[in-house]
Amino acid sequence: MKRFAALTLLLAAPASAELIGGCQFDRDTLTFAGSPVEQATCLLRKVELMGKKAPQPLPPVIKRLMERGGAPSEAQEAAAIAAFPQPYRIYAIGYQDLATSQTEAGVPLLYFVIHDTSTPFYGADRFPKHLDNDPKVNSFESYLAAEPVAHIFLNRQGQIWGAHDFSIPWRATKLESRVVGPTARGRFVHIETVQPRRFLPGATNRGQTYGPKPGFSPAQYRMLAALYVYASARAGRWLIPAFHSTVDDGIPDAHDDPQNFDLKRFASELEKLLSA
Ligand SMILES: [Zn+2]
Repeated sequence: MKRFAALTLLLAAPASAELIGGCQFDRDTLTFAGSPVEQATCLLRKVELMGKKAPQPLPPVIKRLMERGGAPSEAQEAAAIAAFPQPYRIYAIGYQDLATSQTEAGVPLLYFVIHDTSTPFYGADRFPKHLDNDPKVNSFESYLAAEPVAHIFLNRQGQIWGAHDFSIPWRATKLESRVVGPTARGRFVHIETVQPRRFLPGATNRGQTYGPKPGFSPAQYRMLAALYVYASARAGRWLIPAFHSTVDDGIPDAHDDPQNFDLKRFASELEKLLSA
């Protein structure tokens, strides 16, 4: 009887359904497993040292958005834009009506991925004392490149550099670049949030580092919430928030960012914006 049940199960599983990583990304549908609430719960697990993941409760505001679906109201989008500093605010108004990315097969944007830059890297040196005002920590210079790695760079003062517009399909995870490949581009937008790193005691390789505590500034949580509302408004639906490390969970040599991310702080900034 047992053997029969196992056989039935085997036959029921289609051979093409390959699920990738801890949150089970389906390369055919380009979606993680489960309902939006289940996906957000998996993708917002706390990222600890060396990329270890720990479950944490989904804040009520995020749970509500994932359950109800829909999109930000015009007033909520306006509140998000009003929260942006210049010059990004003017840019955001200019691009407000432009649709967000989709994949080459026409699958629309769904995931809002939060990263930490892990830059500047201090090696065995101490972190600067006043991270939020440190010119080197908050400079965008080291991220300037012919092909910047993410859509957005957000420093500790809350300044925003829009490197690629949200309409541009772009990749910043191993899931997109190494595992699924170009067909996944456009399904994710990426926010690089400035946080320095240094070696763990005794470490000599970049896979063994830690970030400061608190990990991010109040201005960064405020702007992450505003960017989330703004990107969701342009996408016409509440995007599913995620972390880099949980998106790449189970993929070898995956990054361990963002470190020391306080999900409750993000949720409370989001709550403030939505009730504005
Ligand atoms: Zn990252």
